[in-house]
Amino acid sequence: MKKESDNSTRKFETEAVRTQTERSQFLEHSTPMYLTSSFVFEDAEDMRASFAEEKERNIYSRYSNPNSNEFIDKVCKMEGAEAGFAFASGMAAVYSTFVALLETGDHIVSAKSIFGSTHTLFTQFFPKWDVSTSYFDVNDLDAVEGLITPKTKILYAESPTNPGVDVLDLEALGKIAKKHDLIFIIDNCFASPYLQQPIKFGADLIIHSGTKLMDGQGRVLAGITVGSSELMDKIYRFARITGPALSPFNAWVLSKSLETLAIRVDRHCSNALQLATFLEAHPNVEWVKYPFLKSHPKYEIAKKQMKAGGCVVAFEVKGGLEAGRNFFDAIRMLSLSANLGDSRSIVTHPASTTHSKLTSEERQAVGISDGMVRVSVGLEHIDDIIADITQALEK
Ligand SMILES: *Cc1c(COP(=O)(O)O)cnc(C)c1O
Repeated sequence: MKKESDNSTRKFETEAVRTQTERSQFLEHSTPMYLTSSFVFEDAEDMRASFAEEKERNIYSRYSNPNSNEFIDKVCKMEGAEAGFAFASGMAAVYSTFVALLETGDHIVSAKSIFGSTHTLFTQFFPKWDVSTSYFDVNDLDAVEGLITPKTKILYAESPTNPGVDVLDLEALGKIAKKHDLIFIIDNCFASPYLQQPIKFGADLIIHSGTKLMDGQGRVLAGITVGSSELMDKIYRFARITGPALSPFNAWVLSKSLETLAIRVDRHCSNALQLATFLEAHPNVEWVKYPFLKSHPKYEIAKKQMKAGGCVVAFEVKGGLEAGRNFFDAIRMLSLSANLGDSRSIVTHPASTTHSKLTSEERQAVGISDGMVRVSVGLEHIDDIIADITQALEK
């Protein structure tokens, strides 16, 4: 775990490029990879003091490593967080964060529309430890307080949601969490720290899958949790013993990727808005959802809490399941894949992929119709993206 040390006033893009672990004796300009499992001690006293945690230094890469430290430092600065820990995947971050904080008998209040694997964790695994979850509809925040019990410890949500691209009012949720003394956790993966910093709205912890926009080039799995030092210390104590740490190689890739996060996400968002606007006018499209379209039910809230609308556009092809299938088979350039936030545009069918573990009724309840298409809009030229989708829609 690495704590943010200076409180400089440098801007987001500058921190993304300039935050660096200390240089080695070789004075390298670009941070090298520290592909080492352990670190050496100067002498017996150094060894004793290091293990006693009297000094902050790297001991073993399951605990910390210069490459993960640099990645964590950058994300802390981007999110305005005090401390963080980097994980081997987004789900390792989700799992470790919850398990480190929960006791047997605790209760979670969560939004209904959450990442499929997180939903499975809550419904199929946590009950083993008598941890229960109650869900609120993302369009009915008035119902949240009614779900809170004396056992409730965590309030959890994602915004924008996957794959429905719903937007939740983070400030409203932050107030509820504060009033009831709950730990407020946001999975900020869909927005990236460039578009939205939930700590400003009262979040205590932020979780990211680094696999998505952070890497942005579909190369590595990664996850990270950042937030208050007090909560992060509990998560660190758990993670250094259970071993979900990010590999130094993947941390090096991620830290480099963050240098270009702002310019990549700007382009993702401008391409996505153009595609969403185009689809809205297309006769073969039933509906389109994108946070920065005026037709989005939470457009005003999206504008308030996000810098731009993100890379994901959801829409429904007219004609239901059959038409949806034909659309996927007609796609030529875009990838049929389950990832998002990649430089390559991806089309996916949530009902048969990310949310296939849910029943059809459960999918309906989180706003996933069987013919719904999710597009993760990439960095190709927008004309080529629109051309591929148009020919598939018109087949
Ligand atoms: C992908 C994703 C995760 C899980 O991340 P992995 O890196 O695949 O383990 C969690 N939350 C959201 C919102 C995601 O999109």
